[in-house]
Amino acid sequence: MSQPSIAIVGAGIAGVACANALAAEGIATTVYERAGGVGGRLATTVLPESAPAYAFDHGAQSFNVRSEAFRRAVDAAGRQGSVLPWPARWGHRTADALQADSRDEARYVGLPGMGALVRSLAAPLDVRFGHAVTRVAHDGRRWTIERNGTDTAHADIIALALPAPELPALFHGATPISLQETIAPVHYAPCWALMMGFAQPLGLPYDGIRIDDDMLAWAARDNTKPGRVMVDESWVVHASPGWSAAHAHDTPEQVLHAMHARFAEAFPGTPEPDLMAAHLWPHALVEQSAGMPCHWDAAARLGACGDWCEGPRVEAAFLSGVALAAKIAEAL
Ligand SMILES: Cc1cc2nc3c(=O)[nH]c(=O)nc-3n(C[C@H](O)[C@H](O)[C@H](O)COP(=O)(O)OP(=O)(O)OC[C@H]3O[C@@H](n4cnc5c(N)ncnc54)[C@H](O)[C@@H]3O)c2cc1C
Repeated sequence: MSQPSIAIVGAGIAGVACANALAAEGIATTVYERAGGVGGRLATTVLPESAPAYAFDHGAQSFNVRSEAFRRAVDAAGRQGSVLPWPARWGHRTADALQADSRDEARYVGLPGMGALVRSLAAPLDVRFGHAVTRVAHDGRRWTIERNGTDTAHADIIALALPAPELPALFHGATPISLQETIAPVHYAPCWALMMGFAQPLGLPYDGIRIDDDMLAWAARDNTKPGRVMVDESWVVHASPGWSAAHAHDTPEQVLHAMHARFAEAFPGTPEPDLMAAHLWPHALVEQSAGMPCHWDAAARLGACGDWCEGPRVEAAFLSGVALAAKIAEAL
């Protein structure tokens, strides 16, 4: 008997980990991704587009590794030169001082950008880029997957690997009850990310800085990460969840001026940036998870995975994808 066809929607680390774990069992999948590359929130922007001088990891900055399964994946990517620890000097900007911060765990980054880990996991997979899934529907026998509002494909099993709040839109008012129940408690905080390129060094003694402030939460000197080809100072600053939520409807222009002004107050002597840009992640960090490894509805042959299942971390998203792969493999 031929293998049931399996479609995975979303090529962030959760979707790719799911497809990769199935591929390791000899089970083929087709992954649909709306963007032009894999990685999702493991993202890097190179600016200016005309003459790239700065590279910014404007989503996840780095990740840690706690489980055996994720350790194996990170070590394999490390052997290919796609992942290395970031030997950053950590700092903490309190209300009245800038001081050293201690970190017990190694923090890893992708080379030359954060998406490299996902790219290495995706190497053996069939990923279709530029395929924004606009609707999924089950006719009692199989799934229809509409892409870009027009093309349709079919699959016996479907796995959705998107942030939970984005799932109901795919069902056009017909979200299965069991999926509605799974995602009901999930809540994400947004995050505004400010990117600043400086032609001259900032002179700050730390590369990753926690900030105690109602507007700013974190700043990183991304050019100190291993394997970065752009050597000019590329800083990424994350706004706090509360401030990001309160300013979610501001324009990038408004946000970048406000965040830059506060950064210059927190770090006196900051020169004028050569370049600035701001990006809003509407679903950045999970504040309330579903509290389960993944969603699996055996009757509908519908799965869902992502960081929203167990927590706001790259590793949690990876493990959720692997957990869903195990459910799908069991069902075959
Ligand atoms: C600003 C920021 C800072 C962070 N910092 C850290 C950190 O320091 N450490 C850490 O461990 N984690 C951090 N995270 C969280 C981490 O990035 C996520 O937990 C993880 O990347 C989530 O992976 P995912 O696969 O679940 O989702 P995503 O990465 O969101 O992947 C979803 C994928 O689905 C695609 N997609 C969406 N809709 C469709 C559609 N309709 N059709 C087809 N494809 C679609 C998207 O393009 C994307 O590729 C941070 C995140 C942000 C935004």
